Amino acid sequence: MAKARAKVLVVGGGPGGATAGKFLAESGLETVVVERSFSKPKPCGGAVPPLVMSEFGVPPEIIDCRMRYTSVFSPTNRETQIEVAGSKPTDHDYIGMVRREVFDNYLRQEAAKAGAELIEAKISDLKVTPNGVYATYIERGKEKRIEADMIVGADGAYSQVAKVVGAPRVPQAVAMQYRITLPESQMSEWRERAELYLGQEISPDFYGWIFPKHDHVSVGVGAGPDKSQNVRAYLENLRIRAGSKLSDGKIIATEAHALPMRPQKQIAFDRAVLVGDAAGMVVNTSGEGIYWAMKSGKLAAETLAKYADSPSAANLQEYQRRWKKQYGSMYTFLTQLQKIYFGSDKKFEVFTEMCRDIDVQRLTFDSYLHKEMAQLPITSGLRILGKMWFNFARWSIPVVALRPKPAQVYGVLK
Ligand SMILES: Cc1cc2nc3c(=O)[nH]c(=O)nc-3n(C[C@H](O)[C@H](O)[C@H](O)COP(=O)(O)OP(=O)(O)OC[C@H]3O[C@@H](n4cnc5c(N)ncnc54)[C@H](O)[C@@H]3O)c2cc1C
Repeated sequence: MAKARAKVLVVGGGPGGATAGKFLAESGLETVVVERSFSKPKPCGGAVPPLVMSEFGVPPEIIDCRMRYTSVFSPTNRETQIEVAGSKPTDHDYIGMVRREVFDNYLRQEAAKAGAELIEAKISDLKVTPNGVYATYIERGKEKRIEADMIVGADGAYSQVAKVVGAPRVPQAVAMQYRITLPESQMSEWRERAELYLGQEISPDFYGWIFPKHDHVSVGVGAGPDKSQNVRAYLENLRIRAGSKLSDGKIIATEAHALPMRPQKQIAFDRAVLVGDAAGMVVNTSGEGIYWAMKSGKLAAETLAKYADSPSAANLQEYQRRWKKQYGSMYTFLTQLQKIYFGSDKKFEVFTEMCRDIDVQRLTFDSYLHKEMAQLPITSGLRILGKMWFNFARWSIPVVALRPKPAQVYGVLK
C-alpha cells in the first residue's frame, strides 16, 4: 500500500476546498486536495457576486455573462423589473454567471499553482484521532493511504468529514435544474438578464430561476426539506410557466443536488474544520453558497496556518468565532426574511410588491454585491415597514378589486 504524508488533507475540491487548498499552500503548509471527480460538474445555478472576482482574483474570462437586470414574476405573473445596482451604483454592479465545470477547475488549478497536490479520488475511509488524521482512497484501482495533521471538510452537503467529527445532520433542501440550449436569436436576449419566478407550484420555499450561461440557460427550482419529492414537478411547472421563452429549447441535462438549510453550530474541532456546504453555509433566502464556501475556505486556512503546531478545537475555534462575528447576524436576518416573504402565494405577492421599492432593491443588492448590511435612514426603514404592512393587508382582505391586476409590468428593463 502506497503511503503519503500531508500536513493538511482537504476533502473536496469545489469552491470551498479549492480555495482552502490555495491559501493553505500559500501559507507554506503541505496540502493535499482530494476531489472525487475533476470532470463531473456540481449541479448549480452558478450565480456569483463580483466579490468572487475582486476578492479572490478570479479573471473575467471565467465568467460567462454579467447579469445586469432581473425580472421577478409574482404568482399572478406580475413582473417587476430590477436593475442590479447597490446604493452607490458602479460598473461592477452585476451578478456573474459561471459554469461550475469551468469555475471549479480554475480554482483547483490555482490551488495547484500555489503548491497544493491535487488527487482525483474518493475518500472512502476516514479517521480523525487525537494523534492525527488517517484516510484511505482508491486511485486508478489502487488503495492508498494519507496521514495528515489536520483536515478540512469541504465535501459538500453530504459531508463525510462532518459525520466523522460528530457534527449533526442539518435539514436539507433539494435543488434541480435543466440545462437548456436555445436558438441563437432567443439566447442573445438572455445575455444580461435573468428571471426569477415565485409561486407555490414552482418553489414554495424558494424561487424558480432562469440564468444565462455561455451556450445555454440554467432553469431551476428549489424544494424545502419536506417537499423534495415534488422537485421534478416544480421544475416542469416552471418550464411551462416560462412558456414561449423556452419552448424552442432543448434540454441537454437534468441535474439535482442537496442544499444545507442551516449553518452548523460547531465548525471547528480537534484537528478539523468544516467549510462551505459541509458547514451548512448556504444562505437560504437565495440558495447562495459559492462565495460563502470560498470565504469560509479562506478563513479556515488562515486559522489552520496559525495553529498548525497546536490544532486543538480550542485554537481552531478562532475560525468559528471570526465567522460568526462577521456573518452570524446576516444569516439570522436572512432566515427571518425568508419566513416573512416565502411560503405562500400571498407572501410571494407581497414580496414582489416590495421588490418594486427602490430602497428595497438597493438594500438587497448592497447585501448581495458587497456582503454588508447597508444602513438605511430611519425614514426609509419606516416607509418600507409601512409598505410591507399595507401590502400584507391588501393581500389578506378578500376584496380582489383592491389588489394590483395580474400580469402587470413594472420597472426598468432595457
Ligand atoms: C441546483 C443548485 C443550484 C445552486 N445555485 C447556486 C447559485 O446560483 N449560486 C450560488 O452561490 N450557489 C448555488 N448553489 C449552492 C452551491 O452549489 C454550493 O453552496 C457550493 O457549491 C458549495 O461549495 P462547496 O465547495 O462547499 O461544496 P461543493 O461544491 O458541493 O463541493 C464539494 C466537493 O466535494 C467532493 N466530495 C464529496 N465527497 C467526497 C469524498 N468522499 N472524497 C472526495 N471528494 C468528495 C464533491 O465531488 C464536490 O466536488 C446551488 C446548489 C444547487 C444544488
